[in-house]
Amino acid sequence: MKRAVVVGSGPNGLSAAVALARLGVHVTVLEAADTIGGGARTEELTLPGFRHDTGSAVYPLGIASPFFRSLPLGEHGLRWIEPEVPLAHPLENGDAVGLLHTLNETAALLGPDGRAYRKLVQPLVQAWPALVGDALSPLLHWPANPLLLARFGLNALRPAQQLAQSLFTTERARALFAGLAGHSNVPLHFAASSASALVLGAAAHATGWPIAQGGAQAIADALASVLREAGGEIHTGVRVGSLRELPQADATLLDVSPAQLLQLAGSDIPEDKRKPFANFQRGPGICKVDWALSAPIPWTADLCRRAGTVHVGASLEEIATSEQDAWDGRASERPYILLAQQSLFDSSRAPAGQHTAWAYCHVPNDSAEDFTPRIEAQIERYAPGFAATVLARRTHTAPQMQQWNANLLGGDVSGGAMTLEQIVRRPTVPPYVTPLHGVYLCSSSTPPGGGVHGMCGYLAAAVAAKHMGLRLPPLATN
Ligand SMILES: Cc1cc2nc3c(=O)[nH]c(=O)nc-3n(C[C@H](O)[C@H](O)[C@H](O)COP(=O)(O)OP(=O)(O)OC[C@H]3O[C@@H](n4cnc5c(N)ncnc54)[C@H](O)[C@@H]3O)c2cc1C
Repeated sequence: MKRAVVVGSGPNGLSAAVALARLGVHVTVLEAADTIGGGARTEELTLPGFRHDTGSAVYPLGIASPFFRSLPLGEHGLRWIEPEVPLAHPLENGDAVGLLHTLNETAALLGPDGRAYRKLVQPLVQAWPALVGDALSPLLHWPANPLLLARFGLNALRPAQQLAQSLFTTERARALFAGLAGHSNVPLHFAASSASALVLGAAAHATGWPIAQGGAQAIADALASVLREAGGEIHTGVRVGSLRELPQADATLLDVSPAQLLQLAGSDIPEDKRKPFANFQRGPGICKVDWALSAPIPWTADLCRRAGTVHVGASLEEIATSEQDAWDGRASERPYILLAQQSLFDSSRAPAGQHTAWAYCHVPNDSAEDFTPRIEAQIERYAPGFAATVLARRTHTAPQMQQWNANLLGGDVSGGAMTLEQIVRRPTVPPYVTPLHGVYLCSSSTPPGGGVHGMCGYLAAAVAAKHMGLRLPPLATN
C-alpha cells in the first residue's frame, strides 16, 4: 500500500488527503492547531453562544468547486445556505447596488449599465461549469473550452479600474465592480485584477454565494469525515518543524506557504533551488473584526439588510485608493470593508434574537495597527446606530492572524500576492512539485490560489498520484 503524509489540514490539505485516500493510499494528516480546518474554522470568539468564522465565511468558490462537487459532502454534514441576496453594496445616497440571484434582476438594479453588465457576465454564466473548471486550474494549461477561456481571459487580464471605467457609465456599477475586484487583494490598476470580479459576479448567478450551516468548520468537518471513511487519519496539535521528523512516505504534501517549505526543508533544498520559493511575494495583510450584536446591523438600504455579504466602499475611487494604500504600506483612512452577516440566515450562529457579523479590510502586510475604529466608522456611515448594537467584539490584527494560522504570512489571506506574475508562476512552473523528490506543495500558494475550493489540494494530489503510478479520476465539469 502506498503511503502519504499531509502537513496541514486546511481545505487544500484535507482535499489532497481525501483525493489520495479515495485512491487507496494510506494517508496521515498532521495539523499544528488543536482543531482542523485552517482557514475554515468556527469559534466562540466573543460571548458564549456566538459562533464566528475566524477565517473564511462565504463560499462562491466552494459550492462551484469541481472537486467538492465530486464528493458526498452533504452526506457528511455539509449544508450550503444561500442568502436571499448574495451581495449588497451600499451607496452614499442611502440606496444600494448588488448582485441578485438572477442576471435580469441584477441588470435592472444597474439601470443604464444593466446592458453592459449583462453583455459582460451572461456568456460566463451560460458556460459556467466549463469556465469554473478552467478558472480553477493553473493559468498555463490546455483548456477544456479554449474559445470560452480566451474570451474570459481578454477581460480577466485587464486592470479592474480600466475595465470598469470603459464599460460602465454610472458610479453605482463602477463601485459594484470595484468591490468585487477588491477580492483580488492587489491594486485595481494591476493586470488581472478583473479576474476575481468576473468569476465572483458570474458565480452569484450560476451557483450562488452560500454560507455553510453551522459555519466554516462544517466544510472542514465534512472533508475530514470523508477522509476517515476512506481510511485516512488526522492528528491535531502536531506542529511539524522539519521534514526530517516526518514518517516515511511515498508522497509528502505540504499545505504551507513557499517560505514555510524552505524552513521545513532546511539545507535539504540547495541554495540554487531556493529562489522561486524565497522570492515568492506576500500580498497585503488583513485586519479582521468579529462582533456579537444585540440586533441585525441597521443598514439604511433595505438590500443590505437582506444580503449575506456586504461590500463597504463609497466608489470605485475610494476602493481603489484603499487597495493601493494597503499595497503601498499605508494605513487607509477609509478602508474598503468586506462584511458577512451569517446569523441572518443561519440561526445556529447566535442566541435567539441576537446576531454575529464578520468583516475585514486589507492593510499593509504585517501591520500591527488595530483598524477596528476605521472599520466600524465605515459601517456606521451606511448603518447609523451600528455601534449601539455591539455587545462584544474580537479583533485580529495582521500579525495576530498569522499567530492563529502560520500560513497567513503577515496577515496575507491569499497565500501570496495575486499579481499576474504570481498567478502564472505559483510559485513554480510546473506547479506543485518541489526540488525534493516526493515532496509537493498543495496550499493556496499554488494554482489556482486563494479561496476555499480545495482545487490546489486536488491538483497537487493528482501530480503526486501520477508519480506513484496512480491516477485520480477526472472531475466532471457539468
Ligand atoms: C479572515 C479570512 C477570510 C477569508 N474569507 C474567505 C471567504 O469568505 N471565502 C473563501 O473562499 N476564502 C476565504 N479566505 C481564504 C481561505 O480561507 C484560504 O484561501 C484557504 O483556507 C486556504 O486553504 P489552505 O488549505 O491552502 O491553507 P489554510 O487554510 O491556511 O490551512 C493551512 C493549515 O496548515 C497548518 N500548518 C501550517 N504549518 C504547519 C506545520 N508546520 N505543521 C502542521 N500544520 C501546519 C495550519 O495550522 C493550517 O491549519 C479567507 C481567509 C481568511 C484568513
